[in-house]
Amino acid sequence: MERLDAFMARANAAYYATRDPFADFTTSPEITQVFGELLGLWAAVTWDLLGRPAPVLLVEAGPGRGTLMADALRAVGQVAPAFRAALTVHLIETSPRLRRLQAAALPGAIWHDGLASVPQGPLLVLANEFLDALPIRQFVRHGTTWAERFVADGRFVEAGGAAAPPGMDSARGGQGARGESAGGVGGPVVYEFCEQARAFATEVAARAIAHPGAVLMLDYGPEQSTLGDSLQAIADGRPADVLSPPGTADLTAHVDFESLAAIARAGGAAVHGPIPQGVFLAHLGLFQRTDRLARGQPPRRAGALIEAAQRLAEPNRMGRLFKAMAFCHPDCPTPPGFAA
Ligand code: SAH
Repeated sequence: MERLDAFMARANAAYYATRDPFADFTTSPEITQVFGELLGLWAAVTWDLLGRPAPVLLVEAGPGRGTLMADALRAVGQVAPAFRAALTVHLIETSPRLRRLQAAALPGAIWHDGLASVPQGPLLVLANEFLDALPIRQFVRHGTTWAERFVADGRFVEAGGAAAPPGMDSARGGQGARGESAGGVGGPVVYEFCEQARAFATEVAARAIAHPGAVLMLDYGPEQSTLGDSLQAIADGRPADVLSPPGTADLTAHVDFESLAAIARAGGAAVHGPIPQGVFLAHLGLFQRTDRLARGQPPRRAGALIEAAQRLAEPNRMGRLFKAMAFCHPDCPTPPGFAA
């Protein structure tokens, strides 16, 4: 019998070690170069707002193929040479396979297994679809107690029982909460808890306060904490059983932005968002930048660029379910994209 977070961690480690994840699903930086460019410019402007600390660490958590960072650095090199000269690139990545791809795209970067080994100092952190891959625990409500989900022989089993699972105040659990119906009529009421995401939020917020710093996270999940089973698996480009044999499917869960924001705020950081990704990217100039790029391209290429931008921003595509949230040093003015 294995706790669900242990199973999910094992499944994703095996999956990212052996598969090309991007054959199974695509992410914003793989959809259009403009995504990484805008995030690079976000970092450059935020560095300015932080008072141009130098040297500065540009950190990415879960860099995938290295596409986002490569696009960001190209844009920064063109429009913010002082920032480009002041920064060093640090990548947090556990998959040896993806590290090799990143090394090809990002010469000079420095790799880490986690935030702990990233040097202390002024920093800007980018994380796109990183938090959703971190392992979650699930608890199922039975009357006034909650049992935890474990995996045994490829099936869910429940064990234990507590008045309130970790991170949940008993009032919320006892009374039910927003999204209660997410389990379906008569379905189980499920509460999710991501220890690693909370630890990441705690640590990045502390670092953004200790020195001038800011963190930008883009991921999918609701604006407010909710109940419901959000664990999902993708294999061969299609939804799959979440209990598929480890290594055959990518497992993700919704990010609990509200809880992470509360953690960062309690630590003293200024929190911006979460706001819908479509709103955030439009504020940063997604469509202007895309139009400029599309101009002078053959019609097919121009059309593909515009279609890609729409995919990231339209509410019924990636524009609404995905959110942007930032943690900043308390003295930092509101960073780009978050002003009303
Ligand atoms: N940001 C990229 C990739 C998203 S996939 C993009 O937008 O395309 C998730 C990434 O996080 C992969 O690079 C994966 O190897 C990495 N990852 C997953 N769990 C991790 C962990 N616990 N520590 C460090 N990296 C992790």
